[in-house]
Amino acid sequence: MTRAAPSHLLPVFARADLSFESGEGAWLVGSDGGRYLDFTSGVAVNALGHCHPHLVAALQAQAAKLWHVSNLFKSPDGERLAARLCEQSFADFAFFANSGAEAVECAIKVVRRYHASKGHPERYRLVTFEGAFHGRTLAALAATGSKKYLDGYGPPTDGFDQVPIDDIEAVKKAVGPATAGILIEPLQGEGGVREPSHAFFRALRQFCDERGLLLAFDEVQTGMGRTGDLFAYRRIGVAPDVMSLAKALGGGFPIGACLATAEAASGMTPGSHGSTFGGNPLAVAAANAVLDVMLEPGFFERTRKMSLLLKQKLASVVDRHRDVLSEVRGEGLLIGLKAVVPSGDLVGALREEKLLTVGAGDNVVRLLPPLIVSEVEIEESVRRLERACAKLSGASAKKEAAQ
Ligand SMILES: *Cc1c(COP(=O)(O)O)cnc(C)c1O
Repeated sequence: MTRAAPSHLLPVFARADLSFESGEGAWLVGSDGGRYLDFTSGVAVNALGHCHPHLVAALQAQAAKLWHVSNLFKSPDGERLAARLCEQSFADFAFFANSGAEAVECAIKVVRRYHASKGHPERYRLVTFEGAFHGRTLAALAATGSKKYLDGYGPPTDGFDQVPIDDIEAVKKAVGPATAGILIEPLQGEGGVREPSHAFFRALRQFCDERGLLLAFDEVQTGMGRTGDLFAYRRIGVAPDVMSLAKALGGGFPIGACLATAEAASGMTPGSHGSTFGGNPLAVAAANAVLDVMLEPGFFERTRKMSLLLKQKLASVVDRHRDVLSEVRGEGLLIGLKAVVPSGDLVGALREEKLLTVGAGDNVVRLLPPLIVSEVEIEESVRRLERACAKLSGASAKKEAAQ
């Protein structure tokens, strides 16, 4: 047996023993030559699949012109991207960052600074929610509140009060004179594809308005079409004051954004925030190209149609394999399969069938196909899921018989 060379990558990821050479649409070609159906989309990033011709052309053209100039200078393409995002949303301003966590950090800073600029620096706390995920920087991690991720990093950054989702009374109880706002995902992705009721979001909006609190939505995962509209809040019908975006914004090129209304952003003045790379020409070119495709008429209708088809087919698989799966959850193409077997076993069995998926909290497996996935690919994914379930039920039946 050949022994693998020791890795010099910091061992913070439990990586699957698999790597890839190339990708096209919903497919990845492994270094082993195998063709994998990619329902991870790089964790909700490659919304237009791999190597979308329009994205490749846009990035190649930009790469031959200008890579980086910093925010010392004007950014015409950044202006255009900001204007397009604002035109499509509740927002008046956009700040560009490089990741989801940075976009969330900006949202937290906007909320705190708003109250400080109104003469209330003592209002700095945010209410956040159990099962949330907001990223791995220290403040985003404190907002996430997960003990597992906070362990060993000293006292969590102060200023976050966590309550259960869908419990407006708990929110009201957690709000005090130091509260500045509320930060919530429209649908928890990492937390296990859990969606609070629309009534809860309406209640949050009303409560924020009554108490002068800012409402911030973390749409890093749900944004950019993932749940069947450009932003999940448009589907829910409740607009926030501040919103973070990242993941699919650049279609695979790193870029994040924090969007805000003029009122919410009224504390943000020159020098109050910044980023060296943020909104760099390559990132902005990628994001503008993503919007070109997503804003074509009928794009989200198609996503919703594929969502319905996939959910219907998944529901019938769940019916046939009650010993492996118990529930289909989610919106658009952010879909969760609640597993009966350990979710890691299911992800592994699916990988054996060359269908790539992502684990989540609450023993859920996430299916995150690219939004350009075809009907044929959905049918293929369901066949692979059937085979994996059959193997897993066979295995659990054998285990029972042996006991
Ligand atoms: C992935 C994610 C983040 C963190 O994004 P990074 O780019 O990994 O920093 C933050 N919030 C939500 C909702 C996410 O899904």
